[in-house]
Amino acid sequence: MSTRELEGRRAVVTGGGSGIGRAVAEGLAARGAHVVVADIDADAAGKVAADVGGEAWVVDLSDTAALDELTLEADVLVNNAGIQRVSPIEVLAPDTFRLIHSVMLEAPFLLVRAVLPHMYARGWGRIVNVSSVHGLRASAFKSAYVSAKHGLEGLSKVTALEGAAHGVTSNCVNPGYVRTPLVEKQITDQARVHDLSEDEVLAQVMLKNSAVKRLVEPREVSSLVAWLCSPDAGMVTGASYAMDGGWSAR
Ligand code: NAD
Repeated sequence: MSTRELEGRRAVVTGGGSGIGRAVAEGLAARGAHVVVADIDADAAGKVAADVGGEAWVVDLSDTAALDELTLEADVLVNNAGIQRVSPIEVLAPDTFRLIHSVMLEAPFLLVRAVLPHMYARGWGRIVNVSSVHGLRASAFKSAYVSAKHGLEGLSKVTALEGAAHGVTSNCVNPGYVRTPLVEKQITDQARVHDLSEDEVLAQVMLKNSAVKRLVEPREVSSLVAWLCSPDAGMVTGASYAMDGGWSAR
């Protein structure tokens, strides 16, 4: 499906250079948005921006102090950039915990803070936070990731409450494991932590809780994000949408 319902809208997608973010950038552009592909990887951001007819914004979201005074002119903000480390708490380096929280929680706060004045002035805005099934449920060895995603859920709900009077919605999407470079790295990491082969990790760890028993495809997440950004979704705010093959129904 493709309508041009986001024609004239400017959308910022963080982590837009790869995986889910890339698919989201493609989905929003197909619906008419001018997409700003924000990513630390200049080559990836430039390539996706060229492919979707948008623009690249090369930014390191872990450098949060640089975002303190940012002003962002966008009608759609998709907080998607993320990183992952798999490690028991007692050996997780404090700086790694801080890095994950800066990219996945502090930066989303700063970008929301930077974009709301523009959205409030226009009386319309869509914020989508790419959370995870781990925003709703925990897994061992993912303390930084799970706690950052749980924090993102809270930020999203508060944004929904404050933005409602100004035509701004804020929601989370909560995928299970999606076929992206991040997951390919997780499979390798988990094989090491659990002393399993990569095929065993997929069957015994990644898809253990999925009723559908396959990875989510990036374009499936992108479709949900695009719908949340559509005019039809104006009454949907403060919500979290699982796309996890039934994992969170257990
Ligand atoms: P990915 O690794 O394919 O892409 C992440 C992108 O973020 C990359 O382009 C990377 O360059 C960018 N990025 C990383 N650090 C950055 C920084 N400091 N500043 C700016 N950009 C930075 O990952 P993905 O699998 O597409 O994940 C995207 C989001 O989806 C993440 O928030 C992740 O937690 C979430 N998620 C992924 C899955 C999954 O199974 N892949 C499941 C649930 C949620």
